[in-house]
Amino acid sequence: MDKIKVGILGSTGSVGQRYVNMLKDHPWFEVRALSASSASVGKKYREASKWVLDVDMPTSAAEMSVIAADGNALRKEGVELVFSALPSDVAKVVEKEIVDGGFTVVADTSAHRMDADVPLLIPEVNSQHLEALTKQRQKKKGIIVTGPNCTTIGLAMSLKPIQQEYGLRRVLVSTMQALSGAGFFGVPSMAIVDNLIPYIRNEEEKVASELLKILGDYHGEFKNSNIKVGASCHRVAVLDGHTEAVFLETSRAASPEDVASSMKAFKGEPQILKLPSAPTVPIIVRGEPDRPQPRLDRLSGTPERAKGMATVVGRIRREEALENGIKYIVLSHNTIRGAAGNAILIAELLKAKGMI
Ligand code: NAP
Repeated sequence: MDKIKVGILGSTGSVGQRYVNMLKDHPWFEVRALSASSASVGKKYREASKWVLDVDMPTSAAEMSVIAADGNALRKEGVELVFSALPSDVAKVVEKEIVDGGFTVVADTSAHRMDADVPLLIPEVNSQHLEALTKQRQKKKGIIVTGPNCTTIGLAMSLKPIQQEYGLRRVLVSTMQALSGAGFFGVPSMAIVDNLIPYIRNEEEKVASELLKILGDYHGEFKNSNIKVGASCHRVAVLDGHTEAVFLETSRAASPEDVASSMKAFKGEPQILKLPSAPTVPIIVRGEPDRPQPRLDRLSGTPERAKGMATVVGRIRREEALENGIKYIVLSHNTIRGAAGNAILIAELLKAKGMI
């Protein structure tokens, strides 16, 4: 089978490096172009990227020359599918131009997440939202699918089985988010060592609005879920892995054991279709009183290609202060499941369904 030729926008950044690593030896995709800002264009990838992953930079990427973030440069390299990990303000313009140029774009950025015809996708949770591409194809030369904010992904994954089986009335979440979520230059070390920062700009609004779109329906147009959502978002001195304390009210009463069973049994299209980057078990439920922990659990997931793709839940218990109250802790790897890995899984789903 010929591999689909892909390009990565923002390839030198925190998320971009994850793409480069996750796409090496991918069975369906072949990286043909690495793009970054004008300060990096023309340099070898090994010179342009300040590599921060604890695995070696793939040799196939190291000697590639970084190209500009535009359709002509991508077309010259034969690129068909574009992953975007650009800063959102840049993405607003660039992603549109690239879709207008006829490419398929899968974006981690917030630029087009809430657009009326753009799916905001977690493949296990709302793959039926891909129906929106029919409308897109009538208007656009290319297509675009987005992935949610890194904080929303683990939360939505853990909520989906509960919503399906018991209904959800109210969700409150308090987050402890890793530094890599802010990009390599995002949080100065002097601000975070011996500290936490109880504010992340625009994050709480994104969690609420994105969650309602993801857990809502699509019938010719998106209709938000009517769950009441409240979020408080915080940056903590953890390198990778967002941990969240979730409090919720179900519509029908459910015990902690019921909730744990529904999470353990949960599977989505990626598992049914056996996509290459799909975790065999999408939600891992741990029974220990002190798990999940980011350092110990963020790389959960099998097979090897899906490490960091599983969402890990623990401490599921009753919350007596709420009606039909349940609370738990959820953890997911923000640059793998929360960004590059989710986008790669979206692309695999598009391919498996014959949509690209
Ligand atoms: P980052 O580490 O700051 O990387 C930004 C990348 O964009 C770099 O490759 C940079 O290239 C490139 N870039 C900057 N300005 C550009 C321009 N004008 N034209 C072309 N390329 C440009 O950011 P990140 O954390 O990887 O995040 C990337 C995107 O993913 C953001 O939209 C973010 O909100 C989203 N996201 C991040 C996470 C996460 O956990 N980090 C999770 C989900 C979504 P240079 O190296 O040349 O500057």
